[in-house]
Order: sequence, then C-alpha cells, then structure tokens
Amino acid sequence: MSKIKIAELFYSIQGEGRYMGVPSVFLRTFGCNFKCAGFGMPHGEMSHEATDIAATHTMITPFTKYEDLPLVSTGCDSYASWHPDFKDLSPMLTSEAITDRIMEIIPHGEWKDEHLVITGGEPLLGWQRAYPDLLNNPKMRDLKEITFETNGTQKLTPEFKSYLAKWNSTVGNELTFSVSAKLPASGEKWEEAILPEVVCEYEEVGTAYLKFVVATEQDIADAERAVEEFRTAGFRGHIYLMPVGGVESVYNLNAKNVALAAMKRGWRYSDRLQVPLFKNEWGT
Ligand code: SF4
Repeated sequence: MSKIKIAELFYSIQGEGRYMGVPSVFLRTFGCNFKCAGFGMPHGEMSHEATDIAATHTMITPFTKYEDLPLVSTGCDSYASWHPDFKDLSPMLTSEAITDRIMEIIPHGEWKDEHLVITGGEPLLGWQRAYPDLLNNPKMRDLKEITFETNGTQKLTPEFKSYLAKWNSTVGNELTFSVSAKLPASGEKWEEAILPEVVCEYEEVGTAYLKFVVATEQDIADAERAVEEFRTAGFRGHIYLMPVGGVESVYNLNAKNVALAAMKRGWRYSDRLQVPLFKNEWGT
C-alpha cells in the first residue's frame, strides 16, 4: 500500500481561488523544490524566519505539533511543510490511514459538497505515484472535486497523467490545478519558476488557472510578463491576482490595489479568506 508524508490534514473553508468559500479537506504533503524566502522582504533580501524557528526546534525546544509552530510574516508561510528540520512533524501515512482520518474530520462522516485540496509544499513532487492508491480507496468514491495547489514546475508522469485524465472524464468529476507560479519577489529564479510548457500539460487533463501573489507594481509587471509567456505557449486558463498573505497588516495594505490591478487587466481577484477568518493559523 502506498504511503505519503503528510504535513497537515485538516478540514476548513477554501480561502483562495476558484473554490473560495467551499468546505474542503486539505491534504498538505511534505516537501518542496523551492524556499520562497523573498516573500515580504526588500528586493534581493531573503527571510531568515523559518531558519531561526528551525534552530529553536532542533537545538533548544522541539515543537511537538504544528499548532505550536510560530507563524511567519516573511518567506513561505508553509515553511514546516518542506524545511527538512521539521520533517519529524510529518508522519508517513498509508492511504488507509489518510482516508480514515478524512472520514473523521468531515463533520458528517462522508463526502457531500466538500472538495479535496492536495497542497504542499509542492504536491506534484514524488507523491504522484501514491495518489492513485489514495483516490481508489473506497472511502474516496463519492469525492467529486479535487484541486492540486502547485507551483507549476513539476511535469506529470505519463502514468499519473493518464490516471488523472480517466478520473476527470468520469461523469461529475472535476479536476483543477491551481498554479501559483512564483514571480521574482519570491526569491526564486524566473527560468526555474515560470514553466509554461509544464502548466499547459495540466490543461490536457483538467482545468488550470494561474494565481500570482503580488504586493508591488513590479510584481504586477512581472505577472504581465509571465502571462505573456504562458499565453504564447498556448495556456488558456484564467489569471488571478492575490495579495501577499502572512500577517493581516501586510494583507490589508495590499488587497484593494491588487483588486484594482486585476480589474484593469480583465483578470480575476483572489482573496485569502483564511487571513480575516482564521488569522492564517495552522490547520486553516
Ligand atoms: S512553492 Fe509554495 S510551499 Fe514551496 S516554498 Fe514556495 S510558497 Fe512555500
């Protein structure tokens, strides 16, 4: 039976993108190919918040659960889902254990209108080989909608691509790729983060959209450049702009201007409902 290293598994409201407001099960896998230490930092500087928390965890007082980990206001707000120093907090779980847990956390004990969000970290790293076993579990039979929240850099393996195409072609099923392509403000390199040919392939098996996290005019200019590259490659999906998250003060400063920038370009605006609703806490 396949196993997946699970950073978090919780039930909440989807706060972003196409399924904003939909009750959702979030399966957060461990591991990411990026660090995104540039978020919220002056141009060219990298956040040390995650590294500092990791030093506390490994050398002073180990955290025993996610809920106790400090939230960060710079860098990746999901740092514990990929930073190697926190891997002890993410157990390897069998498909059976994951689906049992899902049935426990859905309030009525069965899939109704809930949607499954497979997120990370980067959920399309090595775990692609394990998802068919998970989704074939009888307890997942009534699941109709899945979103992969990805950074858009991982090609689908031929086996997983054909599995997803079949899953999505089943009547009533809907597969979505919410692609948060990383702009230079993340601290990642353009040529490693903006990969239109990878994202265009997602559109062959489901609906894909791009969601850019922006905080400055430069970010919006970078998003325009990226969209041009994606469109040139044949990408057809919607474009969303979303304000930087993390702490409420940063979020509030950005939201209106981001919405106006999206309107001006005929793009969509995505809120981050988990910030005003739940203060961006773990498990939300
Ligand atoms: S791609 Fe996502 S999970 Fe990975 S480091 Fe960047 S923000 Fe964090």
